[in-house]
Amino acid sequence: MTTSTVRTRFAPSPTGFLHLGGARTALFSWAFARHHKGTFVLRIEDTDLERSTPEAVQAIIDGMSWLGMHADEGPFYQMQRIARYQEIIAQMLENGTAYHCYSTPEEVEVMREKARALGMKPRYDGTWRPEAGKTLPAIPADRKPVVRFKCPQEGATSWDDMVKGRISFSNSELDDLIIARPDGTPTYNFCVVVDDWDMNITHVIRGDDHVNNTPRQITILQALGATVPEYGHVPMILGPDGEKLSKRHGAVNIMDYDTQGYLPDAMVNYLARLGWSHGDNELFSREQLIEWFDTRSLSRSASQWDPKKLNWVNAHYIKQMDNEALAAVVAPRVLKLDPAANVSQLADVLALIKDRAETLNDLAEGALLFCSAFEAAPAELQAEVLTEESRAVLKTFAEKAAALPEWNTEALAQVIKDTLEACGIKMPKLGIPLRVAVTGRKQTPALDAVLALLGREQVLARLAQVG
Ligand code: GLU
Repeated sequence: MTTSTVRTRFAPSPTGFLHLGGARTALFSWAFARHHKGTFVLRIEDTDLERSTPEAVQAIIDGMSWLGMHADEGPFYQMQRIARYQEIIAQMLENGTAYHCYSTPEEVEVMREKARALGMKPRYDGTWRPEAGKTLPAIPADRKPVVRFKCPQEGATSWDDMVKGRISFSNSELDDLIIARPDGTPTYNFCVVVDDWDMNITHVIRGDDHVNNTPRQITILQALGATVPEYGHVPMILGPDGEKLSKRHGAVNIMDYDTQGYLPDAMVNYLARLGWSHGDNELFSREQLIEWFDTRSLSRSASQWDPKKLNWVNAHYIKQMDNEALAAVVAPRVLKLDPAANVSQLADVLALIKDRAETLNDLAEGALLFCSAFEAAPAELQAEVLTEESRAVLKTFAEKAAALPEWNTEALAQVIKDTLEACGIKMPKLGIPLRVAVTGRKQTPALDAVLALLGREQVLARLAQVG
């Protein structure tokens, strides 16, 4: 339900998967729109035909949907809006805010070189820029022009960035930007401007690699008589070593985190804290994020990816998740590890092991002990642990356990105690052989709970095997 005029957008270029930086930018735009009960628009910037693919579009949509960020409008595709961009270009040529420029790229390069040689910013020299009283060169035959925006040359273009504060560019530094190529196709910055205008975008939150585009976009918006949105440029995410986040630091594709067993809620929480804060709160729900989100608390400095913290956040979400719901997401992972696994009791299994897990994959591996067919311990381990002495201890335990009227954790805890007393031994002397005999391993979660979960039949059968 939208009740305000706030409209934000996420405008990815579909040239690969949805990476962590993009996901975080999307999350901030989404949270801002939700906070203001506004509208969140998804726009696919697919005009780079060589690099854009339908698979990448799908990957972006899948990534957003995994994180639970749904667009209220879109996806809109720039390639479907070319006629609209051309319509505006024609209007601008008509009203004099744009002009045809017949300089070739080689000629422009010479102009840039000249400017460089004079110690100035390399730029187009305005040969074809119409001015009052100026005579333009004769139009060369057989040459198709580009269209340039007639950028104001006086004054400055400034904005109060929602993240970085006041930013100002002198207009004398801004070139007359090419807005259409010789074949008539519109260029990147121009499409963004027309889209932000047509889509009534009020707040643009994006990566700070776009800061230099902003004065160009603002001057065009002003020439069009459009309302200029607010801009917020978020600093990038660095790897733990302070370098730009990249594959070297682990997965950068958001969906790899699904594969590795991270919960979308944990990922949203973690990503939001990466560059945004609300007091000392490290753990917050989606609802709290929406309630608290503001651009004033976006950090001006780059944030650092911290895999340990992500694991800590994920562990928290695993712990607090309902066991049945957790079982529903872990079951496919268990079955992937062992297609023959029995996941009917998975919720109980997870209740026992979830306190120690950092990822869903940890849980799936831990659950195999209960869900997969029993695998006896390797002969070496059996020989080491299942001595004559310990077999006698196991026998005592088995007799007491077999006599139990009720097979549950408390009763089994009592049997363990009674066995220790009866044999005059300490826990390791019973614990280790019992674990090896009934689970095939030396280490397991709490023994009484493990035995309860495995069930009377299995436990006694496995003990009988080693007896
Ligand atoms: N398409 C641009 C990108 O993927 C974003 C443009 C924008 O947000 O204005 O980096």
